[in-house]
Amino acid sequence: MEYIIPNYYKAFHCIAGRCRHSCCMGWEIDIDEATHALYQGISGAFGARLSESIEVDGDGAHFRLDARERCPFLNRENLCDIILTLGEDALCQICRDHPRFRNFFSDRTEIGLGLCCEAAGELLLGSAEKMQLVPLVGTENATDTKLTEEEQRFFEFREQVFAVLQNRAQRIDARLQAVLTLCRTALPQKSPAQWAEIFLRLERLDDAWTQNLQALQAAPTASLLLTLPKETDIFFEQLAVYFIYRHLAGALEDGALAARAAFSMLGVQMISYFCKLYWGKHDDLPLAAVAEFARLYSSEIEYSQENMDTLLAILHGERADFAGDL
Ligand code: SF4
Repeated sequence: MEYIIPNYYKAFHCIAGRCRHSCCMGWEIDIDEATHALYQGISGAFGARLSESIEVDGDGAHFRLDARERCPFLNRENLCDIILTLGEDALCQICRDHPRFRNFFSDRTEIGLGLCCEAAGELLLGSAEKMQLVPLVGTENATDTKLTEEEQRFFEFREQVFAVLQNRAQRIDARLQAVLTLCRTALPQKSPAQWAEIFLRLERLDDAWTQNLQALQAAPTASLLLTLPKETDIFFEQLAVYFIYRHLAGALEDGALAARAAFSMLGVQMISYFCKLYWGKHDDLPLAAVAEFARLYSSEIEYSQENMDTLLAILHGERADFAGDL
């Protein structure tokens, strides 16, 4: 089995107490069975705290979030009391993995870092180097990797998509359009305000996301058609490569390659609209601002299966209830 990672992957470190949007807040955190059994075996005061802080329902065990939707083990310094008391090995699978994601193939696993983590976002978007996929050390000599013909064709095609996105001789808008053409798709012709209306009809969690969409809805279209300076292209290149790396492979399962490519380019387009609004106000576009827009988009869309399914269905032309919007 070959394990593949992006070239920036090894530089990732959780910033824990310095994280402004800790992944230990605002989500239901499921506890896998093995870790739940481990927690049930802990005795003493910490064992009692564990059992009081975990609830079990039809979906399994999860932490009982407090009134502010914080994990009950996230302390005042935003550090994890489970790590501090029992060590990192005692974390449940979700907490150990986050913000990593994995895509599985017949004899290959691809691993990446999700944009919903601010540290991962700043690392990925702040990288000036072209993203390259490299084998995880220890699996680089897996020369007998067996991939199906369909997988091999997919990887060859995806390399072409990456090459188009990373062709720095062109401005980013031309590259994004070229990817849509290569994948035989197009984004529905919508104004930024109309896209904002569609996103406002999806499930939403964070008020900041709603406020960004409302600002987009109210903004004069002309201000969103401005061209950002060339030096900002790198942010959108890295974003587009990330979305393709994370989402295109699902086409091997559902056959929706065109919709997945369109979904990826739509993500870049939506984030670029927020960036243009920011530029209009500040005449600048720092990495932290782009990473924050990307974090919000990722949390609200990529980490909501319902929203992902709805957007893919819309882009596949399958949602009659959104037909009026499209
Ligand atoms: S969101 Fe990222 S940086 Fe923040 S606590 Fe989670 S893993 Fe660490």
